[in-house]
Amino acid sequence: MTRTISILGATGSVGLATLDLIDAAPEGRYELVALTANTRAQELADIALRLRPRFTALGDARHAPVLEAALAGSGLKWGAGPSAVAEAASMEADWTMAAIVGAAGLAPTLAAVKRGQVVALANKEALVCAGPLFMESARRSGATVLPVDSEHNAIFQALGGSDPAKVRRIILTASGGPFRNASLETMARASVRDAVAHPVWSMGAKISVDSATMMNKGLEVIEACHLFALPPEKVDVIVHPESILHGLVEHYDGGLLAQMGTPDMRTPIAHALGWPDRMETGVSRLDLPALGKLTFEAPDPKRFPALELARAAFRQGGTSPLVLNAANEIAVDAFLNGHVGFLDIAAIVAESLERGEGVARGSLTDFDTVYAADAAARELAASLVKARAQHSASRAQGA
Ligand code: NAD
Ligand code: MG
Repeated sequence: MTRTISILGATGSVGLATLDLIDAAPEGRYELVALTANTRAQELADIALRLRPRFTALGDARHAPVLEAALAGSGLKWGAGPSAVAEAASMEADWTMAAIVGAAGLAPTLAAVKRGQVVALANKEALVCAGPLFMESARRSGATVLPVDSEHNAIFQALGGSDPAKVRRIILTASGGPFRNASLETMARASVRDAVAHPVWSMGAKISVDSATMMNKGLEVIEACHLFALPPEKVDVIVHPESILHGLVEHYDGGLLAQMGTPDMRTPIAHALGWPDRMETGVSRLDLPALGKLTFEAPDPKRFPALELARAAFRQGGTSPLVLNAANEIAVDAFLNGHVGFLDIAAIVAESLERGEGVARGSLTDFDTVYAADAAARELAASLVKARAQHSASRAQGA
């Protein structure tokens, strides 16, 4: 039977891994409905020409001429701008991969959720920004939200259908990132190249920096609280550098259930794509004797304050997780563009949270409030970035 599928964020790391699985599937198994990307127009066009989706959307309209030229004469329908991405997400499809990075993914992911079909969720920021509203939308539409984030996918599997409210705790594993053993002095001087050089996973730039600060794990704690309706006290984090155990469920009888596998996103994506069945992937199998041992350690809150910042934001509730996320996106972008240092990322997030109350206040009752609060939080974070960049420029001049 042919399944209709859409991929939001098709040119990204998760999007391309999804396409890998689709390319390997028997002819006629999947039919592409919609594909989206943001700026990589030529790459998007190449994928579209190969897989011939019903609609192709590019988020950033400035790159539309490239898409237009590449698709000319192909008979393929396309559009550009955020409304085209939303239109792509709204089209009927049995299964949608939500793999846009950042809060930009919220509106399209939500449009997919509202259709009431299966949504494979990689876009964790959507849940961080608007978790309660997002989960309520899914309940109302009857959509099945399958976690693709490897830790959450592992926990979903380890739960095996049991009620998360009845477990003692869940544990998300973290690789510890490239600075797991680095001193604060080394981290202060870290270059973009150092920060995105993830020791285990190969991912997009933003999430790679999030892994280096461990904000990724902070966002994942919030993501887990929403997905599994758990209080943050029941969501623990341990550092596990080999990234073989992805997530664990601890029961009251003392037993722990874990999902293990080679760190390769194709496994959790395939779980969501095949669900409730299993499918073949090209993922290399685990050779446990060759691995020899697995190691675990506690996260260091001094060098990785982002984890606690995320927990605090979640406990505070309302717009705080959204402020945390927006500030982090702005600060990571500033770091990637060389405007601030690595340690400034968590500092900007902390300052945004302190001052965020006056910017994005109150509880999130509807999505218009979410988008307005997100815009206000971004403006605040951008002003903090500017102040830090000016400060270090004047210090450099004085030196
Ligand atoms: P990426 O940067 O490689 O790709 C992001 C995709 O989103 C691209 O296709 C890009 O075109 C699209 N995009 C970016 N901004 C957009 C905008 N404003 N409008 C429309 N589209 C936009 O990112 P990634 O590593 O594939 O991560 C995608 C999501 O999955 C993130 O939320 C990330 O946290 C999550 N995730 C990724 C991994 C991984 O291994 N890469 C693992 C777990 C979770
Ligand atoms: Mg993860």
